[in-house]
Amino acid sequence: MPDLLVGAMICAVALGLGFLAGSAYRALDLRKAGEEREELKVRNRELSRWLQEYKDIHARDSEISTLIPSIVRRLAERHPTDALPRVAVRLTKELFKAAQVVLAVVKKDGSLLVTDGVGIPPAWRGTLVLSPRDGMIGDAMRDKILVLREERAARRGRPELSDLERAGMVPDAVIPIVVEESVVAILAVAGSAGKMDRERPYASMLADLVANSFQISIAIEALEQRAVTDPLTGLYNRAYLADRFLVDLRQARNYGVPMSIALFDIDRFKRINDRHGHSAGDAILRKLASFLRERMRSTDAVVRYGGEEFAVLMVTADSGVALEQADRFRTELEEQTFVIPGQADPIRITISGGVATYPQDGQTFSDLIAAADTGLYHAKENGRNRVSASRPVELLPD
Ligand code: GH3
Ligand code: MG
Ligand code: MG
Repeated sequence: MPDLLVGAMICAVALGLGFLAGSAYRALDLRKAGEEREELKVRNRELSRWLQEYKDIHARDSEISTLIPSIVRRLAERHPTDALPRVAVRLTKELFKAAQVVLAVVKKDGSLLVTDGVGIPPAWRGTLVLSPRDGMIGDAMRDKILVLREERAARRGRPELSDLERAGMVPDAVIPIVVEESVVAILAVAGSAGKMDRERPYASMLADLVANSFQISIAIEALEQRAVTDPLTGLYNRAYLADRFLVDLRQARNYGVPMSIALFDIDRFKRINDRHGHSAGDAILRKLASFLRERMRSTDAVVRYGGEEFAVLMVTADSGVALEQADRFRTELEEQTFVIPGQADPIRITISGGVATYPQDGQTFSDLIAAADTGLYHAKENGRNRVSASRPVELLPD
């Protein structure tokens, strides 16, 4: 019997232990399942975040890829150099969905002048000058590569601020515009929608496109300038005068005011060349050009019309005013001595001139030039070193 009792007790203890172990095991199991569930939840949240990030990146990429062709097209259009900053600023804002964009061009003294921008105080435009040495701008100017705020902070801690930051704009990126190894401008971008480090290639692409546009428009303008400039004297040439005449003629017509053309020709210039040499002749032409430029009104177009002939388009000047101005120049020139390097004695020259006035002497450029030429011819015929009004053609000898 006691054996039976002992047996029963052992069974009961074993059952009890089994039950306890079972509950402990179940509790352990439940906790583990709970932990796993939590972990799964965390992973799930992480995955959803990644997915969202991925979706955002994808959406941004497809947005950018639809923007790029229009940006390329718009920067490939011809823009005058002074209009390009505005175009570049607008495109930068569009591409990065930036709250603020600033474009500053490098001036002759190396400093940067803010010429355009969006989201900035209007007073900055044309007045805010930035140092090319400090902060992100300094880095972009020196290294000629795009500088991102985050990357720079990670690399250099908290370095000195640029003038832009001191003025209140905290750029995410400063993008240098490099033309032929020189930085010609910088674009600063703040409050951009995307992550600038991801969008670095687009920023670099934009910088290249803008630089290309700058280069092309500078080259075209230089070519255009060369086409209307006389290389010896730096004055405008006859082609420029013909274009300028049309602009001024429209003004004269609209306002009902006169305008005159004076033609000047150096007297006996061939002799000067013969006596002093061709390069002395060239030096005289250059000095006469600046003498003439200095003495005419800034509104008048002064051009080298041909070899030793010069023309002045005098806006709003009637015949009397034009003759007086032309003759004053003639007498001032008479008093002038030209010191030419390599020549012992200073050289004096005189000029003859002819003046014609719109509307009475002609209505077109060629008519007015021909009329001024009749005055010039008359001045030469009557002893040179004088200025004459245009003469009726029938009075000229055959
Ligand atoms: P006139 O008083 O009748 O005008 O006499 P001129 O000797 O000035 O006139 P002409 O037409 O016989 O000679 C013009 C001279 O101008 C001849 C030419 O060699 C010279 N000339 C024209 N272009 C240049 C130039 O670019 N440089 C130099 N040194 N001489 C020039
Ligand atoms: Mg001549
Ligand atoms: Mg002459």
